[in-house]
Amino acid sequence: MSSSSAFSLDHLSPSEQLCYVHCNFCDTVLAVSVPCSSLFKTVTVRCGHCTNLLSVNMRGLLLPTCS
Ligand SMILES: [Zn+2]
Repeated sequence: MSSSSAFSLDHLSPSEQLCYVHCNFCDTVLAVSVPCSSLFKTVTVRCGHCTNLLSVNMRGLLLPTCS
């Protein structure tokens, strides 16, 4: 028996959070999985469409602005 480990999008590590980032350059929504340790930091995401680098503040994405 060969155990082939195919990667699927449904198989996400529980320690990662799927976030949606909007690219302002090519107007595309990117789905990125961010480790929970980086959820409260600013991470850099490279757009797969226009290869621009986006600085995304994960805290701004996850938490609504509570004043
Ligand atoms: Zn883009």
